[in-house]
Amino acid sequence: MYELKFTYYPHPILRQKSEPLTFYTKPNDDILELIENMKKVCKLPHLNGIGLAAQQVGLVLPVAIVGIPQGDRYKLIGVVNPKIIEISSLTIVGEEGCLSFPKLFIPIERPKRIIVEAWFDDTKKFEKRELFDMGARVASHEIDHLNGIVFIDRTDASTKIEIKPKLQKIARDYPDQKPISLDISGLTTA
Ligand SMILES: [Zn+2]
Repeated sequence: MYELKFTYYPHPILRQKSEPLTFYTKPNDDILELIENMKKVCKLPHLNGIGLAAQQVGLVLPVAIVGIPQGDRYKLIGVVNPKIIEISSLTIVGEEGCLSFPKLFIPIERPKRIIVEAWFDDTKKFEKRELFDMGARVASHEIDHLNGIVFIDRTDASTKIEIKPKLQKIARDYPDQKPISLDISGLTTA
């Protein structure tokens, strides 16, 4: 058993880029268990997250939870090796937050529509999926995390200056936590 621990800004792990995992039909049990645990983290009432990337729980792995709007709720879907293969030129600016940056909400421009290629845990398949609006926003945000990019990187110069005191407060209030250890040996499964 292992315990997932949050990494907050400016933990260096948030800047690390994950490498794709190799597998045939499905990721191994450690990864599937990690997906379930990351969903549990999202569902914690005090977090209520609609997305989470492995770096945010201390692991540099290409694994994320992406909330896709379904009616008035979000369906939390686990993705492995996600890649954006198409981006619409039409963009939307919307308020965005991140569990690694508590209480910080800033306007971020994201594509209105994207096509993501990944292994999806709801269909247990590697496939392409078209995502719109909030679905596209959440997936773009999480895939950024897997590439070591955080949402504050995508804001304009004046917002970056404006949020500086808030970032300093986050760094003060959420001291560094040790990343967790998880046995990820034997990542290849048939
Ligand atoms: Zn985030």
